Amino acid sequence: MKKILVIFNLCLFFYAACACAKNYPVFSVHKLESGRHGNTVLVIGGIQGDEPGGFNAASLLVTHYNIRKGNVWVVPNLNFISIIKRSRGVYGDMNRKFAALQNSDPEFSIIKKIKELIIDDQVDLVLNLHDGSGFYRHAYIDRMHNPGRWGQSIIIDQEEIHTEHHGNIGEIARGIASDINRHLYSMEHAFHVKNTRTCKGDLEMAKTLTYFAICNEKPAFGLETSKSFPTAKRSYYHLRMLEAFMDIAGIEYDRHFQLSARGVKRAINDNIKFALYDSRIFLDVGNARERLGYMPFKKDSEVEFVPSNPLVAMVSSGNSYRVFHGNRRLTRIYPEYFEYDLSIDTITMQIDGSEKIINFGQIVDVNDSFLVVPQKDYRVNVIGYKKKGVANESGINICKNDIQKRFSVDKRGRIFRVEVYREKKFTGMVLVSFDSKPATITASKPWKLSQAEHSHVSDIR
Ligand SMILES: [Zn+2]
Repeated sequence: MKKILVIFNLCLFFYAACACAKNYPVFSVHKLESGRHGNTVLVIGGIQGDEPGGFNAASLLVTHYNIRKGNVWVVPNLNFISIIKRSRGVYGDMNRKFAALQNSDPEFSIIKKIKELIIDDQVDLVLNLHDGSGFYRHAYIDRMHNPGRWGQSIIIDQEEIHTEHHGNIGEIARGIASDINRHLYSMEHAFHVKNTRTCKGDLEMAKTLTYFAICNEKPAFGLETSKSFPTAKRSYYHLRMLEAFMDIAGIEYDRHFQLSARGVKRAINDNIKFALYDSRIFLDVGNARERLGYMPFKKDSEVEFVPSNPLVAMVSSGNSYRVFHGNRRLTRIYPEYFEYDLSIDTITMQIDGSEKIINFGQIVDVNDSFLVVPQKDYRVNVIGYKKKGVANESGINICKNDIQKRFSVDKRGRIFRVEVYREKKFTGMVLVSFDSKPATITASKPWKLSQAEHSHVSDIR
């Protein structure tokens, strides 16, 4: 549990003061630094909000890899509002804003910040992840396989740039393509290198992120997988490319899942959780019900939201909050406002007969039954449990069938809320899970958030 909390603490999001999109989070920077000298690769996902293969792959780098040599900086959610709204770009195509941009543009400050990151002295390689249409081929084959398509390609702006290392970008890209082409599900998925020859007069490509990087002497590549695939397969191919680039850059890493389309799908879905108010509330929303009612939010206070991975976001909407994972709408939370009582952080429970101290914000696995050990002045409410004449549900041994299924957090009716109150104040929540699978979070070492992006984070580290 401690590990989970550490990770949460480092993944705080701030609902930045961007006049255009109050309520919506801005992008986050995750600096995965090994402490061992080596190259720094900057990976950017989500520049266009409707390309989930790229931004899910970037997010998995943050949550499911451990970097052992060199550094990987990841921005998994560059155009976060467009990701949430499933739009290519709410304010137009962000990947055409890297040449000239008026400072009245609603994304001006986002572009300024990401440019600063790209030209940071420490960055050696820049990778921008996309999902493109069809399958790029050097010659016309048919409607979906031709030079006008973008899927399954590595995009370069020119053959070479003049830098000390990795300036031979054409050669690098071809090497990566032939490496990945040994790991295809089908020959149709083969990767090719597409050189846009941007400086020869491609005015559209001259406005892109990678060309900005090239002009600033940073080797940069656009990585494209095909929109013809489901998300997990796109992310699989992205991760193949990312690992091949990390190999070339001498980055050493561990990956905490099997690299296959199925393994990627499982990894994307196994870590969709968030905490509120210093983990007094903690919810697993990977399979949440459409609505979660009467959630005890803190009265007259900002919502302190801490997601378990960089694609989980909460957006206020009228009298409720909508929760997203990338493009997916997960649930809508209806708060009920309470003053908070901070007098205790734990409760004692009997889980299947054995006594344990449980922190608020924990998910407890139960086989048969649980009981909250009574404590003077504290009242327990097991949401969905009712016994006539009983207002305090501590001291009662409760089985799964004693709780009404429709009050569960998850759609399958296995995860329930146990809430503790002191007089009229909310003290904390624990989840009990009657799921036979243990609830685990796989995660890498804590990462560093960029101080520039998240200046208020320093005080919690
Ligand atoms: Zn794109």
